[in-house]
Formats: sequence, structure tokens, C-alpha cells
Amino acid sequence: MSTADPATVSTDLEIPSRALAIGAHPDDVDFGCGATLAKWAEAGCVVHYLVCTDGSKGSWDPDADLAELIAIRQNEQRAAAKALGATGEVVFLGWPDGELDSGLRQRWQVSYWIRRLRPDVVLGHDPWKRYRLHPDHRHAGFLTVDAVVAARDPHFFPEHAIPHHRPSALLLFEADQADHVEVFDQTHLARKLDALEAHRSQLRSTMAVDETTDDVDEQLASFRARVQDRATEHGALADATLGEAFKLIAKL
Ligand SMILES: [Zn+2]
Repeated sequence: MSTADPATVSTDLEIPSRALAIGAHPDDVDFGCGATLAKWAEAGCVVHYLVCTDGSKGSWDPDADLAELIAIRQNEQRAAAKALGATGEVVFLGWPDGELDSGLRQRWQVSYWIRRLRPDVVLGHDPWKRYRLHPDHRHAGFLTVDAVVAARDPHFFPEHAIPHHRPSALLLFEADQADHVEVFDQTHLARKLDALEAHRSQLRSTMAVDETTDDVDEQLASFRARVQDRATEHGALADATLGEAFKLIAKL
């Protein structure tokens, strides 16, 4: 993420009535914008999730039962949404993890959910983040952007047979060039941590917390410290104590 001059960084959108956060895998939304969603949910926003893949590569165990892993990860994502205070839908598109594409078929699906859930704000991965390795994050980002365009105009996918919908803002997390910060307090950060830790199957591979070792408390503390440090770093872009940074696209 490039550093921005606080003078050019906007802060705090008006609390939306409805928000839709789109992630490649279960846990991406919670990492990318969990505290912002917790803040909005507390203020009455209906927060929806859309997860593009089934999360079936999220294990280091070569003998893992993948059908079981998919079900576990869906339940973890629902628990994480609840931990944030999200009261909306948690939708899973179920594309195989690692094989997400951003083609017309997927755009059809994502734009359908934008039209159906009618969010004021859509949040998703920044597809233009440089040197990003994971293809699912790149594809989920392009899908988010492309689906907003398809959802807003009536002649795209008329077979949806539901009214078109134009969100008022798009916030891209993991931003290549952040220019907007949502500011929050420790209670929202605590809810983000609760949500992240609800992804128990990912503790070891993603959060470097191995529950089978004696120093699990220490590992958990250093994971929490890393999340806190990131929030401090993002908040500082706007001269605030804690924040999540985004690229804001407001002309939709
Ligand atoms: Zn991911």
C-alpha cells in the first residue's frame, strides 16, 4: 500500500443502510474490513457477505476430508459474521478454491446478489494491487468491480428479472493506493479479532497459531498484536488511532 498524505485521505462514509462485502475465501472479508463492518453493524447497517470460493484448499493436511473442510469453513464464516454483529445473508458461490475465474458466469452471479441485496456500499479486494500472488484474490477483485457495473445498468443480465441497482460507493480493501480510512475504536477491533478467530480451521495456516503447542497463548497474542499494528498503521494514514484503509470509488 502506498502512503498517502493525510490531507488527501477521506474518512468515514455515512453509515450505509446495507453493505455487501465480497471475498474470495472465508476469512478474507474479516481480514480486509471486519472492524468497519462491526462499526456499521453496531450503528444499524445490515451487513451481508458473499464468499466466492469454497475454501477447500485451506488446510495443510494432505489427507483432509475436503467436503468436511468446506462445511467447516462455511460454519466458521457464519460464526465470524455473527461475531461482528452482521445480521444479513452469508452467501457462498462455492467455486473451487484456487480456481476462481472472473468470467461472465461469475459476474452474472455476483451482480445478481448486488441487485438482490441492494447494498449502498460494496466492499471487495483491490484487483489492481501490484504483485499480488493469489489468483483468487485478483479474480474476486475484478468480479466485484465488474459486477457493480453489470448490476447498475438495466440492460445487463435482464434475465435476473429483478431491478437493477447502483450502489453509492465501492471500497476496495488491500488497496494498492489507499485514499480512504474508516476510523473505529477498540471495541470494533475486538469484534474483528473475534471474527478472525472464529475461523478456527485457519489458525495454524493463516494466523500462525498452533493449538497443539504449549505456547499457543503467546502465538495468539502475537497474532492479535499484528492485527492491532495493522489497524494503527492504517489509522495513521488519516491521523486517527485505529482504522482500515481502502481505495474509495464513489462515482458509480
Ligand atoms: Zn483469501
